Parts: sequence; C-alpha cells; structure tokens
Amino acid sequence: MRDSFEQRQGDTAGRIGQLTVPRAGVTVETPALLPVVNPNVQTISPARLQSEFGAEILITNSYIIRKTEELHEQALDVGLHEMLDFSGAIMTDSGSFQLAEYGDIDVTTTEILQFQKDIGSDIGTPVDIPTPPDVSREQAEEELEITEQALADAEAFDAGEMLVNAPVQGSTYPDLRERAARHADATSLDVFPVGAVVPLMNAYRYDDMVDAVAAAKRGLGADCPVHLFGAGHPMMFALAVAMGCDLFDSAAYALYARDGRYLTVRGTEHLEDLDYFPCSCPVCSSHTPDEVRSASNADTERLLAEHNLHVTFAEIRRIKQAIRAGNLLELVEVRARGHPAMLDGYRALLDHADQLEESDPAAKGSFFHVSHESAKRPEVRRHHRRLARLDLTAYDSVLLTEGGTPSESEYDAVWKVVPPFGPFPGALSDTYPLNAQVPNRLDDAARMAAAEGVSALVADNPDVSFTLAYDDWSDAALDSLSDSVALDPLSSVSDSLEDDDA
Ligand SMILES: [Zn+2]
Repeated sequence: MRDSFEQRQGDTAGRIGQLTVPRAGVTVETPALLPVVNPNVQTISPARLQSEFGAEILITNSYIIRKTEELHEQALDVGLHEMLDFSGAIMTDSGSFQLAEYGDIDVTTTEILQFQKDIGSDIGTPVDIPTPPDVSREQAEEELEITEQALADAEAFDAGEMLVNAPVQGSTYPDLRERAARHADATSLDVFPVGAVVPLMNAYRYDDMVDAVAAAKRGLGADCPVHLFGAGHPMMFALAVAMGCDLFDSAAYALYARDGRYLTVRGTEHLEDLDYFPCSCPVCSSHTPDEVRSASNADTERLLAEHNLHVTFAEIRRIKQAIRAGNLLELVEVRARGHPAMLDGYRALLDHADQLEESDPAAKGSFFHVSHESAKRPEVRRHHRRLARLDLTAYDSVLLTEGGTPSESEYDAVWKVVPPFGPFPGALSDTYPLNAQVPNRLDDAARMAAAEGVSALVADNPDVSFTLAYDDWSDAALDSLSDSVALDPLSSVSDSLEDDDA
C-alpha cells in the first residue's frame, strides 16, 4: 500500500482523500486544485493564492526554471519555496509539455529529477512522452515504451523525501492506457497523472476523456492519487472527480484572463459579451462588467484571473461537499446540462457504471432521479445484480406492483416496483437507493430499467409465477418482459397527462 494517500470518503469513484507530502511537511486534502504558476509571469502571487484562495499546493515548471539563468541560480540558491514565497506543497513539471510542443528537449529524467530535488520541489516529474490522441497504435506503443523507461529511471533515482509522478500515457487506446496504468502502479512512484488529455478537452471530446480516465483507473489501485493533467476548467471537475480523479491543475485561470475570458461552471464567457456577472465572488460582487472592461489592461487581466480562480476553487469545495452528502452524481447531472459535450461525457461515464459501482458506497444521501440518464447509474446496476441473488424458491406466485394489490387474487408475496430500480421486497423501501425521489411524470428510460429489473428476477426464478401490476408503462417496456409475466394494469392517469420528454 502507498502510505502517501489515504481515502476518507467516497461517492461513485470520487473521493475525499489526504495526500501527505513529506518534503513540504503538509497534507493536502483532495480533490485539490493546483494553480499553475509561471515563474516568469505571476498574474497572482503564490502568497495570495495561498492566503486568499486557499491553495494548498501549486505546480510550476522546473524545465523553464532550469533554462532561465536568473531563475536557475535563484532556485538553487534559496529554494523554490522561498523563491515563490509559498509554504504549501510545490509540484514541478519536467518539460514533457515543451517536448510535446517543440519536439525536443535537452534534459534526461535523471537530470531533471536531480534539478527538481536540488531546488526543493516536493513532487517531481520524469520526462515522459505525452502521446496525443488518435496517433497510430505503433506510435502510441513506441512512445509508451519510452515513458516506461522514464518511470524506471525515476524509480532508480534517489528522490529522498520528494514524491515522484508516474505519468500514465497510451493516447486514445484504452488497453494501452490500462496497461500503462498497471505498469505505473507496479512502480514505487507516488502520484499518477493521466497525461495528454488536454487535446481531448480542448476539442470538447469529454466522452473520449472519460474513456481514457476509466482505462487508467482500471489499471491503478485505489491507493493511487490520480492527477488529470492539464485539466483546469471547472465545468468538467465534477465529471472527472466522479471518474476518480483527485488532482487538477489550472493554467486556465491566467491564460483565459489574458484573452478576456470569464470561466463559469457552465462554460466560458467573453468579458465583452457580459452585461451582468453571474457570480458572487469578491470581484463580481464589487464590479460591473463595464468597470472591469474599462480598467487598465493589467487590472482587467488580474480581476478576471481572480474571478476565474474564485469560481474554480468554489467548484472544488462544492464537489467535496457533494461527496460528503453523497450526491456527487446529482451535481454531475447538473453540469452535464451545461453543454452537449458535457452530456456526452456524462453518458460515457455511465457506460462505465459497472466499473464505478465497485467503488460506489452502498448507502448515500438520497438518489434523485432527475433525467433519463439516472436510469443508468451504478446504483441501478447494483440493484439488478442483487435481484439475481434473492431467493424466491419458497413462493409459487409473486405480485410485483407499483401501487396496491389490483385484484382479489392471492399471492404468496407482494413486492414493490419502483422505476428505475424495478422490484424489491417492501421491507427495503426505506433503504438507499430504493428510497429514491422520482418525478411523478416519469420517463420511459426509468420504466425500461425497471423492466430489466423484473426480467433479472424472473430469469433467476423460473418456477415462480409473476404478475406485474404497472402504472402506465410504454409498450416498449412491457414488450421487453418475458411472456411468462402476467400483466395487470393499475387504473392510471390518462396518457394525455404524461410527459415523457425528460
Ligand atoms: Zn466572480
């Protein structure tokens, strides 16, 4: 077991954890945001990041420091913490990004780790190859071999108390990502960045990003802290945390501010288009968009960067609270409505419901069925699997009903039916997730999922005769049931009152 990371509380694959960073003498609570500090251009000083925004950890680039004479000397002389005036944890990148951008860098893993150690970095990074999406499989495999060699070099390096990143590459090949993750997990290294996903996020390919993270997570143990490298837009944090990411880094707060862009949890706005600020951070509650626009360029950029950071840290806190309350997927549902590409990301996440179910706690706050995607949540999958384990051999006839007992027939047992879960013994009505809040105007996806639950129960109990008393199910849901299930419609509201458009 890795002793630097401990999970405290989980929801879906998301978790609140403690990352112990021994060299900095601090413990960082995750999910955590690492503001990217450009050592040459500090839009907001690291001291302010810590005192005003609550940053416990930041990331800066050791390659740039090493290449810049003045910074190089100063960093070696006084150390990173004093140079940046930051007493939290400092992670350093290696120059892999420059390698990907410019094709070549003049430093080896051992050299850059030694430099990172010498300047007092708390979490160092080897020189891996960030293989972009959609390359040939051959290229992805070749570059993965180089990355695996970099991890071997990093393992052989005497890092002392400095933690070391073990980047997980593999481009858009899930099997390579999973293999890379297993390899990284088998090393003695400490933190696991999922690399080269920035091009996916820049292209709004959140579904492909989810698949890459899911593949990496399959290969990483639960004791591995996972960093979604280069992910700084608050819109996608909830989705990424639900997949099991623990660390994010934001260069976006400063880069977007430079371009006059204003981050929100629903997407990005341009300052020039805003008549009102939809935010209550200190910047937005004390300025109008006109005032920010008419400030000097430097002030406009600084105010936008401050807002961007406030909204970014607030989303991290909101996510932590959602994990505590057990309603992280409800938050993901809301964020998924911000942009069609986010909805693709959420739908891709639900494609991995079985994987997510393994880490999803058995009991949470309350299940809100708020969209037809809710019918595919891990809790529904888990209930269907449990149904197959329930023993009904003592009964000849069982009524499954959404309401009361609709006829005078006698049954050996009467079970409730609640979409999207399907049937369960009435005694479980108050247990999570069967105590779900569902809308009166239910969508067909919920009924289709309930029908799957009925089918799972029927398939495992071929000698029991089942009757389903249902309320206004579609033909598709009823047709999906085995012919052996007797149907008994409850007197129901007319179809004209139904609204299936979830
Ligand atoms: Zn604001």
